[in-house]
Amino acid sequence: MSAEAVDILIAGGGPVGAALALALEGSGRSVVLAEARGTDSSGPRSAARGDARAIALSYSSRLIIERLQAWSQLPVTPIETIHISQQGGFGRTVIRAADCDLSALGYVVNYTDLQQSLLAAPSTAERLFGAKVAGFDGGEAIVQTAEGERVFAPRLTVFADGARVADDNDVPVYTKDYRQTALVAWVKTEQEHNSRAWERFTPDGPLALLPHASGHALVWTSSPERSAQLAALDTAAFLFALQTAFGERLGAFTDAGARSTFPLMLRYRREETQPRSVSVGNAAQSLHPVAGQGFNLGLRDAWELARLVRDAREPGSAGFVDSYRRARALDRRAGIGFTDSLVGLFSNSNALLGLGRGAGLLALDLLPFARRFVARRMIYGARGLP
Ligand SMILES: Cc1cc2nc3c(=O)[nH]c(=O)nc-3n(C[C@H](O)[C@H](O)[C@H](O)COP(=O)(O)OP(=O)(O)OC[C@H]3O[C@@H](n4cnc5c(N)ncnc54)[C@H](O)[C@@H]3O)c2cc1C
Repeated sequence: MSAEAVDILIAGGGPVGAALALALEGSGRSVVLAEARGTDSSGPRSAARGDARAIALSYSSRLIIERLQAWSQLPVTPIETIHISQQGGFGRTVIRAADCDLSALGYVVNYTDLQQSLLAAPSTAERLFGAKVAGFDGGEAIVQTAEGERVFAPRLTVFADGARVADDNDVPVYTKDYRQTALVAWVKTEQEHNSRAWERFTPDGPLALLPHASGHALVWTSSPERSAQLAALDTAAFLFALQTAFGERLGAFTDAGARSTFPLMLRYRREETQPRSVSVGNAAQSLHPVAGQGFNLGLRDAWELARLVRDAREPGSAGFVDSYRRARALDRRAGIGFTDSLVGLFSNSNALLGLGRGAGLLALDLLPFARRFVARRMIYGARGLP
């Protein structure tokens, strides 16, 4: 079988791969996007069906998604204020959009809606669904589809296939198991959200409530055992447990939707580039969701890669993949480090650390410039505006 020539093959049509295909519009490159999951009569809509996760998009991600022409159709809920506190300790801080001269600090969206919007936006890329990239030898890539195998000879292969880095034996991967699981669910409270997000650090792990449509998206992190127990409770017992952990700030918790769980790890490729290939999004680094950085960082990977591809003489050359690696090094390192240190600092019941945390939150509350620094880091990443 002779290989089909293509400039860029994107393996994975999750939100990062889908965004990359859009970012490459107008670059003059031929693009094939292969997504392993299939479709149904409504087109690519079923690609992420069943994923109840909500994603907090930073303001800088909004700017990128707007440029990708996929923002207007996205059902988002703005976050205007973030309230950060710790259970059983002093200190708390409130970060407001006004601190950063913005109308919103970020936006909450369903993972499924995000992926669908990005996959549904007009694109000249050839999008294949039910198409699994099953092999890549540094030159040719084998894609398995329902109709049979296709072999491509891409100038550059981009792995956007999510957190499967640990399966790769030939690529050095750093892995840290946090021994934590995130339980996600949509929940309803007596009081309205008023566009306020809550991040509460408990000894088990962080508990976040993000404003989402007419309720909240809950991300409740605890030990795998505790998460399994919480997932198995009936609704009334689950709401009681949640009320106990979060407190009364939003009145009573009145309802909860389906619950799903995600084991949490830090996993990243020490080298996110290989000859003729690069990795973006979760395929390059998979983070704890505590600071809502994973997709936002992955979107910046895609944006930067597309920018470099536009100007490249030979995407896929050793020089090209090296320039991509260097371009992303600072933001990537900062995103990984920031998230990992938050997990370490706040997921610990040590009394001294508790005092330090309280003092840190108090300092943030008292020092507007420190609050602005943290907010801007979360909004724009380490490299500033896209
Ligand atoms: C509980 C939780 C909450 C989170 N909250 C936030 C948040 O608030 N903000 C934020 O920025 N991030 C958040 N994240 C992280 C975010 O979900 C990820 O960073 C994001 O989904 C990464 O997108 P991706 O496209 O790189 O990978 P994925 O979303 O994993 O998508 C990968 C895609 O590749 C496809 N695929 C896999 N293998 C193949 C193959 N061999 N061939 C072809 N296709 C393949 C899969 O079917 C999938 O569609 C959260 C994560 C979790 C678990």
